[in-house]
Parts: sequence; C-alpha cells; structure tokens
Amino acid sequence: MLDLARSAGPKIIAIANQKGGVGKTTTTINLAAALAEDAFKVLIVDLDPQGNASTGLGIEANEREYTTYELLLEEIELDKVIQETGQANLSIVPATVDLSSADMELISNEKRSFLLHDALRQPAMDGFGFDFILIDCPPSLNLLTVNAMVAAHSVLVPLQSEFFALEGLSQLMLTVREVRQSANKDLRIEGVVLTMYDGRNNLSSQVEQDARDNLGPLVFQTKIPRNVRVSEAPSYAVPVLSYDPGSKGAEAYRALARELVTNNKRQAA
Ligand code: ADP
Ligand code: MG
Repeated sequence: MLDLARSAGPKIIAIANQKGGVGKTTTTINLAAALAEDAFKVLIVDLDPQGNASTGLGIEANEREYTTYELLLEEIELDKVIQETGQANLSIVPATVDLSSADMELISNEKRSFLLHDALRQPAMDGFGFDFILIDCPPSLNLLTVNAMVAAHSVLVPLQSEFFALEGLSQLMLTVREVRQSANKDLRIEGVVLTMYDGRNNLSSQVEQDARDNLGPLVFQTKIPRNVRVSEAPSYAVPVLSYDPGSKGAEAYRALARELVTNNKRQAA
C-alpha cells in the first residue's frame, strides 16, 4: 500500500483541464497503467460523456450497462459499476453519452456538487483496496468537473505544449479556489504536466519556460513527449505501456508515475 498523508482509502486525483485535446484521457489511461504496473491498484472513473477512456481500455459500448451516470444519479452499488479492464490492477467505471444529460439533471439536485464525492468516498470503497482513483474529466468546467474536484484529494492538469496553453489555467485555478472555499478545503494541485512536448520545437520549450516561471514547483519535472505510439494505442484498446512498452511515451508515463509517488511519499513524511 502507498503510504500517504491520509488515514485510509485511495488517493483520488481529478485529471482536469477545460480545454479539449490536451491529453487528459491519454494521461488518465497511461498514468493509471504505469501505477498499475508498479503494483498499485488503480480505478479510473470516466467522467467524460465521450467515454474515450472507456473505449481506450477496450470497454465496448454493449459492456457499459452500469456507468458513471448510474453511479452519480442512481446510487448504484460499487461492484456493479466497477469493471475489470484487460490490464492487471486496473479497473474502470465506464461512461456513455448518457452522462451528457447528467450535467443538467444535477442542477435541481440539492447534493449536486457532492454526488461523486459521496459515491467514491463511501466505506464500501475500502473493500476494493484501491490505492489510486483517477477521474478523467470532461473538457469543461461544468458541474461534472466540479463533482470531480469535490471528490478528489488533488487536481492534475495536463498542459499541451502549444501556444495559448497557459491561457485557460487561471480560470481552472479559480475553480479550484472556489471548490476549496465551498466544499473541499483540502483540495491540492497535484501538479501540471506538459504533454505532447516536442523538443525540436521552440514553442514547446517556450511553453515549458513560461509554465515553470509562472507555476514553479507545481510543474512536474517529467514531460510527456509527442509520440505517435501514444496516439496509436487507443485504437488497439490498450495503454501505450502495453502497446509499445519500450516507446518514449510509455517510458515518460512510467517516469510521471514515479515522480507522483515520490511526491506523495514526501508529503506523507
Ligand atoms: P483530452 O482528453 O484532453 O481531450 P486526449 O488525451 O484525448 O485529450 O488527447 C487528444 C489527442 O492527442 C488524442 O488523439 C491523443 O491520442 C493525442 N495525444 C495525446 N497525448 C499524445 C502524445 N504524447 N503524443 C502523441 N499524441 C498524443
Ligand atoms: Mg478526454
């Protein structure tokens, strides 16, 4: 078990950035796979109606009878919604497009911001023995993402190494602050990870410099390179760590997992 600064239960991390296409789902799948490879028990919660994390791990549409939607709105038991993936130590609560209506349906619900919190932080979760829960957020700062931030111990932000990358960050950090003030005072920033980094491209190093200047130690040392194997893996319905274990992308996600675990041990000490 991971020795964390919490009394018990899994460490819950929301993978969030309201921009689409920045590497949230890719980071969720492959960071989870890297942690699982290190013998941690990991659960992915697919909180994006697009269901890309579910598809990327080989959960077919007809295998998604019970999903995040039911978990949020029907208080269904955990063992119905938690599914094995083909990967050892890696489970998932899948999502379907049904989840897109949840954002609206939640509005009239008194507990609207706390539904995922109540589902994930229930005593029954302890029986599964997960070390980590990674929540793959939708590309929006909507009620679903707020649910993730209220449920989570920390937020991990993938930052695409491209022009304007930092622009949306202040809005994201503002949402984190609001959640801290209203519902989850201990919410931390786990870190910002540069994704699709291209060392040959000046723009990538410029974005890195800007990120490190502005965010300092919040930026992970590990950068995820742009690597075609990473983008091919989802069509084979496996993490890049399985698809091409020796690829630069796989190595980078292993390094990210090690850095994250080290940071968490340091916080616990
Ligand atoms: P998000 O979940 O933030 O919308 P995705 O993780 O789906 O973003 O990534 C967007 C696209 O970029 C996908 O097609 C994905 O395969 C590709 N991609 C992500 N990370 C990498 C990488 N390191 N190298 C190459 N392609 C990547
Ligand atoms: Mg996604």
